[in-house]
Amino acid sequence: MLGLTIPEPPRGCGYIGRFAPTPSGPLHFGSLVAALASYLDARAHQGQWLVRIEDIDPPRCQAGASDSILQTLDDYGLHWDGNICYQSQQTTHYISALKQLQQQQRLFFCSCSRSQLQAHTTYPGTCRHQLGAPVKGACSYRIQAPDLEIGFDDLIMPTYKENLAQAVGDFILRRKDSLFAYQLAVVVDDALQGITHVIRGADLYQQTPRQIFLQQGLNLPTPTYGHIPLIMNDQGQKLSKQNFAQAITTEAAPALMSQAIQRLGQALPAELVAAPVVDQLSWATQNWNRTLIPCHRQDPIAF
Ligand code: GLU
Repeated sequence: MLGLTIPEPPRGCGYIGRFAPTPSGPLHFGSLVAALASYLDARAHQGQWLVRIEDIDPPRCQAGASDSILQTLDDYGLHWDGNICYQSQQTTHYISALKQLQQQQRLFFCSCSRSQLQAHTTYPGTCRHQLGAPVKGACSYRIQAPDLEIGFDDLIMPTYKENLAQAVGDFILRRKDSLFAYQLAVVVDDALQGITHVIRGADLYQQTPRQIFLQQGLNLPTPTYGHIPLIMNDQGQKLSKQNFAQAITTEAAPALMSQAIQRLGQALPAELVAAPVVDQLSWATQNWNRTLIPCHRQDPIAF
């Protein structure tokens, strides 16, 4: 019998949130804000807050980054519930999800090279007929995108919908080098961890319909989503490891925590600005108000 076995959620817990960093470097201010938003939303709803290390792409992972991220979360008072989930240990689940989709004849083997696809904005359908056994040579697994609008109501940003075939086209679930794609892993793990609420950066807002489509194909529940504006550097780029965002230090915790709370639109009282992080977090949890989060995608928060 194919299919993912979803564990029963803990009793009495109607809210399970998560922070899911890719360990490509230490935590920076942008990822602190994302971690904090998901933490506060969970705690303000008496929910659990889980951490998942998204280490499925070894070339992107940096040695020591997972431990450093976890240590920084701890130093900043962002204590998680339960065990950490490492995507590198979830391979059997991803394979079982792929098999399930393969049985539905939606997955095909794609041997197109990068240069063959260069001129196309969406996948041109070249290998769509290769539904059965893998073809000779290295190939990726793609899923047929439906000519259908898929949308969702966001807790923070406007409702979003798109036609998957037109906007994205057939997309990859397993790469030619055998690595599993983020889209597959995130959907499987959100379900396996029983996640009910996903609060994360707005760079993933437009990826959500793909995830909902996969959840539907795999018969998995769709969490509630909320996307927070990205923190930008002074060149207008997303604060990220690729753009050499600085690692945050433990010494700076009170100052950066108060900035992070304010970036989320929450009016931290002046007397708490230099207070220990535990006091700031306690105030922010009690006074958390999602509607204050600045939500214009065109109006990213400058750092
Ligand atoms: N791993 C992703 C990142 O670090 C986040 C994925 C998600 O929250 O869905 O940007």
